Amino acid sequence: TPILLWLRRDFRLSDHPMLSAAAASGRPVLALFILDPLAEAYGAAPKWRLEQALAAFAPALAACGVPLVLRRGPALAVLRQVLAESGAGAVWWSRDLDPAAIARDTEVKTALRAEGLEARSFDGQLLFAPWAVQTGQGGPYRVYTPYWRAVRGLTVAPPLAPVTALRPGPVLRGESLDALGLGRAMRRGGAVVAKYARVGEAAAQARLERFLREGIETYQARRDFLAENATSELSEHLAWGEISPRVIWHAGAQAMAEGRAGAETFLKELVWREFAWHLMFYYPRLATENWRPDWDSFPWAGESAAAERWRRGQTGEPIVDAAMREMYVTGRMHNRARMIVASYLTKHLLTDWRIGLAWFEDCLIDHDPAANAMGWQWVAGCGPDAAPYFRIFNPASQAEKFDPEGRYRRAWLAEGNRHAPQTAQDFFAAVPRSWGLVPGAALSAPLIDLAAGRDRALAAYAARPKTG
Ligand code: FAD
Repeated sequence: TPILLWLRRDFRLSDHPMLSAAAASGRPVLALFILDPLAEAYGAAPKWRLEQALAAFAPALAACGVPLVLRRGPALAVLRQVLAESGAGAVWWSRDLDPAAIARDTEVKTALRAEGLEARSFDGQLLFAPWAVQTGQGGPYRVYTPYWRAVRGLTVAPPLAPVTALRPGPVLRGESLDALGLGRAMRRGGAVVAKYARVGEAAAQARLERFLREGIETYQARRDFLAENATSELSEHLAWGEISPRVIWHAGAQAMAEGRAGAETFLKELVWREFAWHLMFYYPRLATENWRPDWDSFPWAGESAAAERWRRGQTGEPIVDAAMREMYVTGRMHNRARMIVASYLTKHLLTDWRIGLAWFEDCLIDHDPAANAMGWQWVAGCGPDAAPYFRIFNPASQAEKFDPEGRYRRAWLAEGNRHAPQTAQDFFAAVPRSWGLVPGAALSAPLIDLAAGRDRALAAYAARPKTG
C-alpha cells in the first residue's frame, strides 16, 4: 500500500533518511504538509519563512515525481482523512523534538497504530539523538564542555545521497500555498525581509560552500565582529531542514582534517545546537520556566514601555537599537548582538527573559525553540551552564570592541543621517506608521544610564531571596 510522507520542517532531498527509505522501499508515496495548530502558532517571521521553504521545496519534490499536498487542520484528523482518500496504509515522518511536536506525534502514532496502521518516525534533525549521549552515570548532560567532549569522538554516519525519484501514489487535491496564508502574519511586510532571506536547499548548499571557501579560516578570529559576514549563516536553513546537520558536520570535519583554522570552533558551535536540543528534550521547561528554580523569586519586570522601546529598536543605546533593527528587517541577528540585546533587556532593563524570547520567536526566520530558550536563559543567568549574573555586558564597550569603526551601527541607524544606507532605510520602510519614527530625527535619549542600570541589576541580584 502507499506510504503517506508527512513533511513538517525537513524540506530537503539530500541526506533525508525518511525520503531515502521511501525511495528504497519501491512503494508508491504521497507527500503532505499540514498547517496544524502547532504550525499556526509559529511567530510571524517563522511562518513567513515556512511559506518560502514550502514554495522552494514543492517543485523540488515534484521533480522527483510526487506533488506536495497542502492541507489545514488538526494533524491526526487530516492524516486520517488523507489515509481514507488515498488508501495509504502508512504514515512516515522525520522526528521534530520540540516538546509540542513530540506530544502531537505521540498522539498520532498511538492512534494510528491502534487502528492497525503503520506509523514510523525517522532521524534527520540532529547529529545525535538526545538519548544517544549520556553521562557516565547514565543521565543527560547539563554542562556544555563535557557534552562536547562526549560527542566529538562519536562517529557521524556519512550523509545520504539526494533522492531523485519516488514512485508516485494516488494524486489528491489540496489547498494552494497562498490559501494557507502563512505570510499574512508578517505585519512588517515580507517584501523587506525577502530581500535578505535565502531560501531552499540550493541556497543552503551555496552558503556552506562559500563558508568553506572564504569563511572557515577566519571564523575563529572574526566571527564576533558585527559588521562582518564571518559566520556561516546556516541557521535559517537548519531551522527548516533545508540542509542536514550531518552534511555540515562532515564538511567541518573534513576542513579540520586538512588542518584549517576555525574548523574545530565551527564544529563546536554546531554542537551547541545539539546541546540545546539535548537540554530541551530532557528539560522541556527550558522554554518556559527559569531552568534554575532559585531564580523564580527574582523580581523580573514584566511588560513595560521600556520593553516596547527595546522591541522597536528605540532604547537610545546605539548598538542595541542597531541589532533590534537588523532582526526586524532581516529576520536574523548576529550572535554577538543577540547576547548584547538579551543582556540589556534582562539586566539593564531588569525585564523577564521570556519577553525577549517571545519577540525573538516572532521575528527570527531562523527561530529554533531550543537554541532560543537556551540562549536567553544563558544570558539571563538562570539557565543551564549560564553566564554568571554579575557578568553584565556593557553595550558601549561591546560596540567599541566588536564594531570598532561603527559600520554595523551605521548600517542600521538612520537617525541624524540623511544619507543612511539602504539597510537603515529598510527599517523605516518596514515599521508601522503608528511607531511614529522619522528617519532624520535624532536617536532617542538612552532609556537608562549604563552604569546606573548595571548597579541596579547587581543590587537586585544581591537582594534576591535565595530559595530552592
Ligand atoms: P555560525 O556561527 O556559522 O554557527 C554555525 C551553526 O551552529 C549555526 O547555524 C547554529 O545552528 C549553531 N550555533 C551557533 N551558535 C549557537 C548557539 N549559541 N546556540 C545554538 N546553536 C548555535 N540560533 C538559532 O538557530 N535560532 C534561534 O532562535 C536562536 N536564538 C538565540 C537567542 C539568543 C538570546 C542567543 C544568545 C542565541 C541564539 N541563537 C539562535 C544562537 C546563535 O545566535 C545563532 O545560531 C547564530 O547567530 C546563527 O548564525 P550562523 O548560522 O551564521 O552561525
